[in-house]
Amino acid sequence: MSDFLVIGGGIIGLLTARELTAAGARVALIDKSETGTESSWAGGGIISPLYPWRYHDAVTRLASWSQQHYPELCEELAELSDVDPEYTGSGLLILDNEEQAAAVLWAEANDKRLEVVGGERIRRLEPGLGDVPDQALWLPDVGQVRNPRMVRALRQTVGRLARITERSEVLELLVNDGRVAGVRTPEGRLEADRVIVCAGAWTAQLLEQLGSRPEIEPVRGQMILFYAQPGDLQRIVLHQDRYAIPRRDGRVLFGSTLEHGGFDKSTSAEVREALHERAVDMFPVLRKAAVEKHWAGLRPGSPSGIPYIGAYPGIEGLYFNAGHFRNGVVLGPASARLMADIALGRDPIVPPRAYAMDADRRA
Ligand SMILES: Cc1cc2nc3c(=O)[nH]c(=O)nc-3n(C[C@H](O)[C@H](O)[C@H](O)COP(=O)(O)OP(=O)(O)OC[C@H]3O[C@@H](n4cnc5c(N)ncnc54)[C@H](O)[C@@H]3O)c2cc1C
Repeated sequence: MSDFLVIGGGIIGLLTARELTAAGARVALIDKSETGTESSWAGGGIISPLYPWRYHDAVTRLASWSQQHYPELCEELAELSDVDPEYTGSGLLILDNEEQAAAVLWAEANDKRLEVVGGERIRRLEPGLGDVPDQALWLPDVGQVRNPRMVRALRQTVGRLARITERSEVLELLVNDGRVAGVRTPEGRLEADRVIVCAGAWTAQLLEQLGSRPEIEPVRGQMILFYAQPGDLQRIVLHQDRYAIPRRDGRVLFGSTLEHGGFDKSTSAEVREALHERAVDMFPVLRKAAVEKHWAGLRPGSPSGIPYIGAYPGIEGLYFNAGHFRNGVVLGPASARLMADIALGRDPIVPPRAYAMDADRRA
């Protein structure tokens, strides 16, 4: 029997399994579909929250830890697998200026490089922009990963150390005398005396059978992908909640929407049209590029975006690491380390209280 059973093989479950195996634990991971095909595949891969000053310190702490470790993590994954997650330090250019003072204060308090830049500098940083505002915020240290590659690299490396079962859904968490005993799947029962729920947007559904449930609900995000050429865009650019992410091969992601509509992952022609219009308006250079793909993913939405990481109250051996909302890729490495610290009784990398089930998550 394994020491831990991880439910869910998105970026959070895979990174959690990686941390536990690194500490010598025997780990099994189970996913209802294929690992890394839900939100963690659909996301943008920006290694920073959008408008990072708007978030609670509990989010900034995890983001900062991850940001420090991402380049090394991606190098390691590229070496150990045949997939390079393509960590790229593109920098983040934010064209909104209404919250400049708050942004500067946040950067000073958190030791982040953030500059207010003027028109000419903006043009030099991103020649692909159409209209250039008088001022913008420039965060040169923000990177990105190609998240579908990141999860593939993780799947390969974790798969060598943990037992991964795909296409098997956990239907029920089994509890005996206040202790977790395992899970029920369509294929039968799996015994486990320590279970970590990393089921993304589906986490609340699974935990509500036991009484208290985290406030996690699916929030759909639609995204389009332009078949653009290398050099067409250079930077991650954000304006009024829409952003462009240029990949190394020239492709450009543009997104994304925030839609509350249950577990519906469908896309709509209107959104595709609206995203396309906004993208070519911001970046005329994209007019010549075809839209190669359009998709939607279900973010694990949580109040204020503070994830739930910790022990489930009243049931020994049951833990959760979920609810990362818009920031699961950037928060993932730190969340996984913190989860392992808690479950293994180590000193935690950050104070864990803010991520408990009953912590106050309202902004
Ligand atoms: C359009 C979009 C853009 C985004 N951009 C960014 C970004 O730029 N930067 C960033 O940091 N984050 C971004 N995100 C958010 C990020 O993608 C998510 O926060 C992150 O992927 C959540 O990871 P997860 O592992 O918790 O969830 P998921 O990747 O959804 O994984 C959950 C897994 O659990 C499995 N599962 C669920 N229920 C069960 C069950 N009962 N039994 C077995 N398995 C189960 C699912 O099959 C799934 O594989 C974006 C998200 C979207 C949708």
